[in-house]
Amino acid sequence: AREVIIQSDRLQVISELSASVAHEIRNPLTITSGFLQLLSHSESISLKDKDYVEYSLQELKRAEKIVGDFLTFSKPLSENMVDSNLKEETEYAKNILIPYANMYNVNLHVSFHNSLHKAFDKNQMHQCFINLYKNGIEAMKDTGGTLMIDISEQKKNIIIKIKDQGIGMTDEEISFLGKPYYSTKKEGTGLGMLMVYSTIHKVKGLIKVESEKGKGTVFTIMIPV
Ligand code: ADP
Ligand code: MG
Repeated sequence: AREVIIQSDRLQVISELSASVAHEIRNPLTITSGFLQLLSHSESISLKDKDYVEYSLQELKRAEKIVGDFLTFSKPLSENMVDSNLKEETEYAKNILIPYANMYNVNLHVSFHNSLHKAFDKNQMHQCFINLYKNGIEAMKDTGGTLMIDISEQKKNIIIKIKDQGIGMTDEEISFLGKPYYSTKKEGTGLGMLMVYSTIHKVKGLIKVESEKGKGTVFTIMIPV
């Protein structure tokens, strides 16, 4: 079994940078969407032009979504803060991904043995678990299998284990995790693990990755309370 602990120093800079970029980009996107919406309701516009406007609006919506993800990932909002043992958040992500898991014959199995609480940004934790489960499912898309999620506690730490039976990673591949745009998938964004590392870094947690090519991967997240 391979074992690597990733240092997350570089994340602070990325997180701050993405926050300011996201803020700067969001305004022009919103303003452009607004004008295009006005245009699409105009009576003098042809049907064909209306289609072009619709496509533009769709693409802008996509851009807004990406920027939106960066914003929630960069800035914890006070209204999102909850005192949690992560039961609700891990279950939420599971429920969201059940249809996706079914598509690839993957079972999602969550077991919970933890009562420690800590302040978390609820949206960020949802997004973080969704990204981790999604990667686990995608690693098993050719084979099916079980994604085991186990939440426990150990010496004032919340311990979250996410174990898949998928394609696994080499040590080199593990070292690329969290690097912006690193993806081995045809339609991957390479932003999922960056978001995960950033979120766990913010709650002073550690992520351990154990993986074996062709066997599977275990992510162990330790969050001090
Ligand atoms: P994406 O999923 O869009 O490719 P991520 O940042 O979520 O981007 O993941 C980056 C890469 O890390 C993936 O493309 C994959 O190669 C690898 N990876 C992440 N999680 C796993 C996993 N559970 N099993 C195997 N490879 C993984
Ligand atoms: Mg991913």
